[in-house]
Amino acid sequence: MSRKTKLIVTLGPATQEQEMIGRLIDGGVNVFRLNMSHAKHEWASQMAKFVREESEKRNAHIAVLFDLTGPSIRTGELEKSYDLKEGDQVEFRREGSKASVPLSTTVNYPGLMGDVKAGNTLVVDNGALLMRIEKVEEDRVICHVLTPGTMGSRRHINLPGVRLNLPALTEKDHKDLALAVECGADFIAGSFVRDAAHVNELRHAMEGLGGESQIVAKIEDQEAVRNIDSIIRTADVIMIARGDLGIEVDFEDLPILQRRIVKRCHELGKRVIVATQLLESMITNPTPTRAEVTDVMNAAYEEADCLMLSGETSVGRYPERCVEALVRIASRIERSGGHGFGQNVILSDERQKTARAAVTLVDSLPDARLVVLTRRGILANQIAMMRPRTSAFYAFTPKEAVCRQLSLTRGIRAFRMPYAANIEETVERATEHLRNLDLVRTGTPIVVVSDILSDHFAANSILLHHG
Ligand code: PGA
Ligand code: MN
Repeated sequence: MSRKTKLIVTLGPATQEQEMIGRLIDGGVNVFRLNMSHAKHEWASQMAKFVREESEKRNAHIAVLFDLTGPSIRTGELEKSYDLKEGDQVEFRREGSKASVPLSTTVNYPGLMGDVKAGNTLVVDNGALLMRIEKVEEDRVICHVLTPGTMGSRRHINLPGVRLNLPALTEKDHKDLALAVECGADFIAGSFVRDAAHVNELRHAMEGLGGESQIVAKIEDQEAVRNIDSIIRTADVIMIARGDLGIEVDFEDLPILQRRIVKRCHELGKRVIVATQLLESMITNPTPTRAEVTDVMNAAYEEADCLMLSGETSVGRYPERCVEALVRIASRIERSGGHGFGQNVILSDERQKTARAAVTLVDSLPDARLVVLTRRGILANQIAMMRPRTSAFYAFTPKEAVCRQLSLTRGIRAFRMPYAANIEETVERATEHLRNLDLVRTGTPIVVVSDILSDHFAANSILLHHG
């Protein structure tokens, strides 16, 4: 109950039963992710419906995140997969052109030949095969195989360090986006976002369809890392997509980048998700490796808002045990403190300065509660970024959608409550609500922060009263 780190679970064949979704909510999941690289439309809407139904039953505010495929580069269709040896020559050719060597496949990105040059590394199938580009021709790229392995159809290609001129959204993304809006997605994630313009393009397309989702920018390559500040400022949430990012950069740089991005998100007041391979071995094993425990612990210690599971819960054998593992590890490290990047939040306006004062106040009072009255969730998120030490941090908002969007904000528990005509009554109602849930006893100090305290003027205010 008092766990601060939020959890995202990817749905898939292993977790698609409605009952299982209910059990995962009971286990502590806050957000369900639909990976549009694999999900069919009918299936995705069915899953979104299951999530809504199971959350309603429990009166829980659980969010749905649609993760768009984005412009990923893939190999073409092969009749039979190739067994590659070190030193083999492999060709990636533009669709419609003829093979010039025996080991040849097409590639779905016609701009590839313009973006790469000889000497670049080309990685196939999420790191399973490494190649060096030897020759670039008008309609093909010829590679020298560095590590042996098998190459099948439609394999993902990464080009570490290469600046690609891919579009922000593909035709497929536009279709998936329309579905996400239709399903009332709380969050929509853009994959391979490389600059702020890509984030804006996604947001405008979403708004053009009448959507009100928040935008998650997935940081997956060096270009995105170079533009990190402007991406953080433009997106609502950042995801450190370590699957692709871990291939696109030298692996020893990955933990440093993770830490830098988490820290920068804190400073700029944006939420951050740490994703991919947190419990990879639990796809087949019932317990995590020591290294995984340490990795999860590190992300929770950095005070990321959210941890995300992918294959572990979409196709793994132990989805519920994975959630339990994250809950146990995160709860444990939270008891011994965290990195404290929240101290560095840049306070740019009076509202944020008021919020900081409230956090200082609540953390200086023994056993105090922190309550934020927030109409759009903005103030709640700003306060959460300061990482108050108290684990009794509650948001009251009239809107259900805002409650769901707060589901990936660290440390906060949201309640839907219509506001009364005056502040005294709104605060009394909120206090009553906490009392009914046994979250407040007589005399408990409660710090209330709000910028909507008065009907007549918008004042940033802090109120200290007792339960
Ligand atoms: P993906 O994104 O699972 O959609 O590839 C996450 C990642 O790359 O880590
Ligand atoms: Mn990815």
